[in-house]
Amino acid sequence: MATYTLPELPYDYAALEPVINPQIIELHHDKHHAAYVKGANDTLEQLAEARDKEAWGAINGLQKSLAFHLSGHILHSIYWHNMTGDGGGEPLAADGVGDLADAITESFGSFAGFKAQLTKAAATTQGSGWGVLAYEPVSGKLIVEQVYDHQGNVGQGSVPVLVFDAWEHAFYLQYKNQKVDFIEAMWAVVNWQDVAKRYAAAKERADVLLLAP
Ligand code: MN
Repeated sequence: MATYTLPELPYDYAALEPVINPQIIELHHDKHHAAYVKGANDTLEQLAEARDKEAWGAINGLQKSLAFHLSGHILHSIYWHNMTGDGGGEPLAADGVGDLADAITESFGSFAGFKAQLTKAAATTQGSGWGVLAYEPVSGKLIVEQVYDHQGNVGQGSVPVLVFDAWEHAFYLQYKNQKVDFIEAMWAVVNWQDVAKRYAAAKERADVLLLAP
């Protein structure tokens, strides 16, 4: 029995038009995300086989593969729920997401400053990567991370709450080489209710690192 399974999309393929067209969503979920799920499961099997046979020749590649595929699965699972056809704007207390709005202001100085940093971090990824808003439990603040592939350039223990996929497969069929246009358009589909829920859950788990027992 597989450890990881591909989650269903919370909407149909056309739900995010015109920001993201249905063909991209279908390929992205059914092919790309599915491949990360399979990759994570396959790698766990190969590691189990290595333990059984005490054959460690491929250990470095397997550990890298596990981090890559598992992180790909996790980030995409968050990504689908971070978006909605009814999204956009900015988090407001009147919409019940005041805690998130306050945390963004406290952590970045202003919503505009946060938006500019995340847009820039996502749009300037070199090669493949993500722009991520994460809860950092040691400081108790939100930070922006510019992730390489799915797993590099990340602070240990930080919890992603809003993720922008900046891989070419996320936009190329529609935006061609204009990655910055895609990232700027993404703000119109952000599901702030979902981001606020993730922020609240991450904050609840803030003692998980136990740095100062
Ligand atoms: Mn992707």
